[in-house]
Amino acid sequence: MSMIQVQEALDQILSKIKFKGVEKVSIDKALGRVLAEDVVSRVNNPPLDNSAMDGYALIAEDIQSATPDSPVRLEVVEEIAAGYTAKGTLKRGQAMRIMTGAPIPPGANAVLMQEDTEKDGNFILCMDKADERENIRTAGEDVKAGETVLKKGITLSPAHIGMMAVVGRSQIAVSQRPTVAILSTGDEILELDETPEGPQIFNSNGHMLSAQIKSAGGIPVYLGIARDTEEDLMEKFAWALKADIVVSSGGVSVGDYDLVKSSLQKMGQEMLFWKVAMKPGKPLAFGHIGETPVFGLPGNPVSSFVSFEQFVRPSLKKTLGCADLSHKTVQARLTRTISKKPGRLHLLSSIVSWADGEYTVTPAGEQGSGILKSAANANGLLIFPLEAAEIQQGQEVAVQLLE
Ligand code: AMP
Ligand code: MG
Repeated sequence: MSMIQVQEALDQILSKIKFKGVEKVSIDKALGRVLAEDVVSRVNNPPLDNSAMDGYALIAEDIQSATPDSPVRLEVVEEIAAGYTAKGTLKRGQAMRIMTGAPIPPGANAVLMQEDTEKDGNFILCMDKADERENIRTAGEDVKAGETVLKKGITLSPAHIGMMAVVGRSQIAVSQRPTVAILSTGDEILELDETPEGPQIFNSNGHMLSAQIKSAGGIPVYLGIARDTEEDLMEKFAWALKADIVVSSGGVSVGDYDLVKSSLQKMGQEMLFWKVAMKPGKPLAFGHIGETPVFGLPGNPVSSFVSFEQFVRPSLKKTLGCADLSHKTVQARLTRTISKKPGRLHLLSSIVSWADGEYTVTPAGEQGSGILKSAANANGLLIFPLEAAEIQQGQEVAVQLLE
C-alpha cells in the first residue's frame, strides 16, 4: 500500500466525483441548500426614489436659511403614504407630508425629517435646512434590473432568502442532495439500545458520520453495523450501493479482520487503498463500485471524523456544486509550542478564538485517534505541516474551521 499526501488523495478523489443534479424548490424551503442558478433581478429595488424618513418632501433651496430661531414656513399641499403616489407636482414654497418608503413627488428634491419641523395649521415651520437629495433613497440603490444578485454555488443563508424575495423569486433552482449510505463495521460495535459487555462499544462513528453528512448537505442513510466477515460486508455494501455515495468506517487497516478492502475488491472495479500521510486517519480506501463512489474511512473515531472532513465533505460539496470545496481556513497565533515527527501532516483538534484583533489557537487536549473528547471540544483543525517538527508559541498557523 503506497503512502500518499493528503492533497494528492483529495485531488484524485475529487476528479472522480460528479455533480448530482438540479431541482426546483420554494425559497421558503431553500435555507441551507446550494443555489444552482445565478439569480438575476428583473426589477429595481427600490422601484422609485422614495423617502428614508417620516417628514416633509420639499425643495431644498426653499429652506436654505432655516434655523430654529428663524424657521421657514411652507404650505402643506398633499400627503403621501407608502404604497401611493402624489397627485400633484410640488412647487416653490410648498411641502408634502411624506412617510418612510413613499415615493418622492415630482418637483421635490429633499425630505426634511419630521423632528425638524413644527405644524402650523396647513403649514409647517422648518427649523433646519436640508441638502439636495437628503433623506431620499434612490431608485435601484439596492438592486438594479438586470443585476446578478446571487451567484450559483453559494449555500443559502437567511439573508440570501431575503434577497430572492426582494427580486420577487418564489421558486429557485438548487442542487439535489445526495443520499449517503453509512456502514459501520466491527464485531465489537453495538447499536445504542444494546447493552455492551466486555470489549463491546457503541457505534459512535455511524451517528457522527450521519451528522457530518447532514451538516454537509447530504441525506444520510443509516445501514447499521456489518460483522467482520466478507459475507456480511459484501451483503451490506450491496445494499449501500443504492445510495449516491457510500461511506464505511473501520476495517481498512492491516489487522487480520480488516476485511473492508478484500470485500470491496471482490465487489468491483477501481478501488484504491492508501496510506495517507496524515494523522489521525492514515488508512483510507476510495473508489467506485459501478457508478457509486465508496469511501472506506478508518475506524478510530477521531480518524473517522477527520478523514470525513478532509475527503468526504469536499466531495459532497462537489456533488452539490458548491463554488468553494475547501474548509474556511484562518491564520491563528499558537498559544503554546507544539512538536511532532516529520513525515505526516497532523490535524490537531483545536480551539480557535478571536481576541484583541486576531485569532489564537490552542490544541484541545490529548490528540489520540481514540480521544473523541478533544474533537468534541474543538472548533477547528490546526494544520501542522508534513515536514515540520516544531512550531513555536506565538507563530501563526493555518486552522480549518469546523462546520
Ligand atoms: P478498525 O479500523 O476496524 O481496526 O477499528 C479501529 C478502532 O476503531 C477500533 O478500536 C474499533 O473498535 C474502533 N471503531 C471501529 N468502528 C467504530 C465505530 N463504528 N464506532 C466506534 N468505534 C469504532
Ligand atoms: Mg474493525
